[in-house]
Amino acid sequence: MQKFGLGFSLLILIAISGCINAPPPSQPGNIIPVITPALTTPSPSPLPVIINESITLTEKEEQIKTFEEKIRGMLKNGTLPIIDAEFHYGGDMDLSKLIDNMDRNGVALTWLGPNENQGSEESIRLNKLYPDRFVPTVVHGDGQKWHGSDSGFLKKLDKDVRSGKYFAMGEFEARHYPSSTNNRDVHMPVDSTAFEVVFQASNDTGIPFLIHHEAEDELLPEMEKMLAKYPKAKVIWAHVGRNRNPETWKKLPNPDGVREFLKKYPNLYFDIVQSKPGSKYQTGYVDAIIYDVSSSDVSLYPEWKKLFEEFPDRFVVGSDINSGRFGDYDRVMSTYRKVILQGVNKDAAEKIAYKNAWKLMTGEDWKD
Ligand SMILES: [Zn+2]
Repeated sequence: MQKFGLGFSLLILIAISGCINAPPPSQPGNIIPVITPALTTPSPSPLPVIINESITLTEKEEQIKTFEEKIRGMLKNGTLPIIDAEFHYGGDMDLSKLIDNMDRNGVALTWLGPNENQGSEESIRLNKLYPDRFVPTVVHGDGQKWHGSDSGFLKKLDKDVRSGKYFAMGEFEARHYPSSTNNRDVHMPVDSTAFEVVFQASNDTGIPFLIHHEAEDELLPEMEKMLAKYPKAKVIWAHVGRNRNPETWKKLPNPDGVREFLKKYPNLYFDIVQSKPGSKYQTGYVDAIIYDVSSSDVSLYPEWKKLFEEFPDRFVVGSDINSGRFGDYDRVMSTYRKVILQGVNKDAAEKIAYKNAWKLMTGEDWKD
């Protein structure tokens, strides 16, 4: 934790607080961009907490220290920790059950994204209640305010991301087909004004966000346009390894298409499809195409294993659990563990399970 080492001077701490994903100031050629907020002025950086004369920790550093201790504790017990990078919190969930689920499945931390009615602050409140479980995460963009480009919502979203209080953002919906738990058949274009706010805020702060965009061939250009326009935005494209219609999804669902995108856009990451191996989408096609279900021992197809090991730094896992799918938690995590994490080499497994998410949320490499 070089950037957050206790020996850093107060001056440096003040300088970097509220901008935790910015690169260390000592790195030449990696200059923190001058932030020109699109919609609002950033809040003042939080003041450091003085613990004693020689140790000064900001609130954010304390949070990171708590997260780190949680992960190290699990590693010590021989558990490969998972950081759940996609969780949908709607307020109607028994948190003690969620915590039981996390413990049973070796999930160290959850990016607890609230819905737009809960507001981002709910994630901070729950982090304060459970500081070693939940990561303060800005709201998801999946409700009426997001899809209606509500100006108040977008302004608040921008302000939240720049506040220095959050480590990640939720999942923002671009093209979204109806799913098992909602009937939203919507399309917020990736190059819309609303998405400009998300990409710009991520670009300026380094705070990652998830994007849900059905990977139809004809919907790829709007995504590529924004990936190129905002090279410092940290974009996690959700549910890779899914194909909901082989007639219209020809490029990206294939490992070669994903490989091409990863090479072309260094700011692009993916979270891995959560669907049950062999299960079918409403179109009648098998949804998760990364799994070989021809025997009872489900496995990863060799070309996907090769891709994950070739780009181990670019994939994360997220449960995609909401209250409607709460009962799927164990199944999703056990598929990740048994098929993905045990199906790739150790280096890739560790990165996909927690190291990549750690780097995305803190801006720092995990130190073994
Ligand atoms: Zn999604």
